[in-house]
Order: sequence, then structure tokens, then C-alpha cells
Amino acid sequence: MQIEALKILFAQSGLKFTNQRYVVYKAMVAARDHPSAETVWRRVREEAPAISLDTVYRTLAALEARGLVTRVPAGGDEARFDGDVTAHHHVVCLRCGAISDFTMTGATLTDLPPTVAAWGRVRDAQVLVRGICHKCLGPNDNTQPN
Ligand SMILES: [Zn+2]
Ligand SMILES: [Zn+2]
Repeated sequence: MQIEALKILFAQSGLKFTNQRYVVYKAMVAARDHPSAETVWRRVREEAPAISLDTVYRTLAALEARGLVTRVPAGGDEARFDGDVTAHHHVVCLRCGAISDFTMTGATLTDLPPTVAAWGRVRDAQVLVRGICHKCLGPNDNTQPN
């Protein structure tokens, strides 16, 4: 990622550019596994050895508040974050915590029922699918038809 482009993006979002914010954001954009703050912290420590877990938490919150990362409402103990802010949905394994992306039609803001539109101003909407993934089900637990 171009550091100059990122400085402009941060400035547009009203966020001061710091090296710690830069490495956290870069790690989030590269991540495809919807990491927790602790996972992000482990990944960025090589590039920013002085960074604390608390700083990673606060940085992710600041990025989230400005729409640069999103929080996945996976329902586990740890908050999970997504560097991909384009519209998509998530499938969550309740056993191993793996989160995957999917897209589908019929689940955009314009598909919402009038009751939701009457409720207030909607910012975004996403489908959250939860269950047990095949890796966790194992061969004996496989309920898929062969
Ligand atoms: Zn699983
Ligand atoms: Zn995602």
C-alpha cells in the first residue's frame, strides 16, 4: 500500500497519521481472516515492537469509528475486525471461530422491509450466518449429502 495515499486517507478521515496506526491499518487491509485485536497485535509487533495491545485496541476503535475497518458481530468473546469495508456478509464457525466472507443478492439496504426504514437512519446491513464448519464437523459428523 502506498504510504502517501494512506496519509491522504487518514487526513480525510480526520485521523492523525502515526506509524502505529499505519502498521495496524496495513495489517487489517492484508488480513482475510477477520482477526481479533490480539491477533493483529501479534502480526504488527515485528514491524512496531513498541506497540502495546491496548494501542492496537484503541487504533482499531479509531479506525472503526471512521469507517476504515468494520467490526464483525460474530458473538464470540473477542471482537473481530475486518479490513475489507466493501458490502459483504459473514459466515461464522461457533466452534473454531473461523469467519468467511460471502456475497448474495437480496440483502442490501434497498431490500430491507419498510418497518426498518421507518425505524430510523440505517447505515449498513449484513447477514450473519453461524454454525459449525466442515473442518470442525469432521468426516463422521458430515450432514451434507454425498
Ligand atoms: Zn470450525
Ligand atoms: Zn469480511
